[in-house]
Amino acid sequence: MRAQPEASHFIDGAYVEDPAGAALDVVYSATGETIARLHSATPAIIDSAVKSGRRAQREWAALAPVERGRVLRRAADIIRARNRELSELETLDTGKPIQETLVADATSGADCLEFFGGIATTINGETIPLGRDWAYTRREALGLCVGIGAWNYPTQIACWKAAPALACGNAMIFKPSEVTPLCALKVAEILIEAGAPKGLFNVVQGFGDVGAALVEHPLVDKVSLTGSVPTGAKVYAAAAKGIKHVTMELGGKSPLIVFDDADVENAISGAMLGNFYSSGQICSNGTRVFVHKAIKERFLERLGERTRTIVIGDPMDEATQMGPLVSHDHREKVAAYLEAGTRDGARLVVGGSTLSLPGLETGAYVEPTIFADVSDDMTIAREEIFGPVMCVLDFTDEEDVVERANGTEFGLSAAVYTSDLERAHRVIGKLAAGTCWINAYNLTPVEMPFGGVKRSGVGRENARAAVDFYTQVKSVYVAMGPQETPY
Ligand code: NAD
Repeated sequence: MRAQPEASHFIDGAYVEDPAGAALDVVYSATGETIARLHSATPAIIDSAVKSGRRAQREWAALAPVERGRVLRRAADIIRARNRELSELETLDTGKPIQETLVADATSGADCLEFFGGIATTINGETIPLGRDWAYTRREALGLCVGIGAWNYPTQIACWKAAPALACGNAMIFKPSEVTPLCALKVAEILIEAGAPKGLFNVVQGFGDVGAALVEHPLVDKVSLTGSVPTGAKVYAAAAKGIKHVTMELGGKSPLIVFDDADVENAISGAMLGNFYSSGQICSNGTRVFVHKAIKERFLERLGERTRTIVIGDPMDEATQMGPLVSHDHREKVAAYLEAGTRDGARLVVGGSTLSLPGLETGAYVEPTIFADVSDDMTIAREEIFGPVMCVLDFTDEEDVVERANGTEFGLSAAVYTSDLERAHRVIGKLAAGTCWINAYNLTPVEMPFGGVKRSGVGRENARAAVDFYTQVKSVYVAMGPQETPY
């Protein structure tokens, strides 16, 4: 089998298998070919991952931060040196085109490890003068963290969770999505090669039940989930039972607002990037594109022209700009939304169907699709589709578009395209979203916090902000004289 790892899980520095676990087949969605056969974790596997993680965490937290940082930065270097091989695996795991995976996956994981490796030495407390006495705070690790991943960015998600967790002195058990279980194993291998103690970053495979068992495990201190809102609600509730820390990176239905004074060509670039990159399978995508009525038809015409030139094909071909969806099951879900769009009366501008490509007839392809004249109440404008399906709505009034943009349970991202500086900042200030862009879309450098508001999430990944979610503050009062007491 093309991408069969040595074994399903990576625990305590080595690959381990327990064939008693449920079978988990990995399918390359461009062809439908089974590329690896794994097993879901059994209770014995989960227990050994937890034990080894706790042991490693004690050793790791006792190291000088500069040494911890060095391991993470070394891992970043190894990832960069192996980018080609890791990108090919990412493509096999997800179906995303190699053109993307070479620049957006392992590399962004490396950036994250490098960033948190760099700031590991700066995770400090405060000194608080109190007159005669004083206090200080320590930023301490939480302990053993669990990371649970979605399937769209398997390497990046593993690194976005591992890097801040480890920099702060925690250990992590990572459960990849059952749809894309391969890449996180490489991250685990590389961390060991970089000098991390055995058990610091363990990977266990499995479906939702394995995720749930990890969340509920009494020796787990924190859970960071990337996934859908319904899963987030379950994981948050389970974590609450144990009063555990959480980070929730969930879904979205984000607005991308194009005013009539915008650079139209640039706004089209943003709308295409924010709907078609990774076949539209990105949580922060700007799937509700609000275009000012005065420029709408011009916008749609050029958008249509440019969308028709997207090269769809074999993900391993560097010329391919769009690959298949992650799986055939997911394609069925997206296809149902394509039907819903037409049924609800949206105007189909481009695409609208599944695709059968010569030589790749068994692949999970859909056409990049644009619906215009979409109204706020249509299913395609309300629900997260997670495919290459752009909904174009129109507006004339600023106040009105802000209200409509905010009229969703989600609040992950938002963008404004305008040449009016004041308007850009005024509108961004009113949008209920955690991650925003002005005249750009979906740029998520590690230096910038990433996360959502409302049902899109709790907590932040990346940047210094992530440190708050992987540490806890210990306050220490220091008496410089005798204790005062009324007794
Ligand atoms: P999902 O919610 O189906 O699964 C996510 C993960 O949770 C998987 O690993 C799954 O096995 C696990 N899981 C399922 N049930 C569980 C339970 N009861 N307890 C513990 N773990 C459980 O999501 P998906 O289909 O893999 O990914 C797509 C979703 O992820 C979309 O909604 C997308 O917006 C979201 N996403 C969000 C971000 C972000 O950063 N905000 C990034 C990528 C994807």
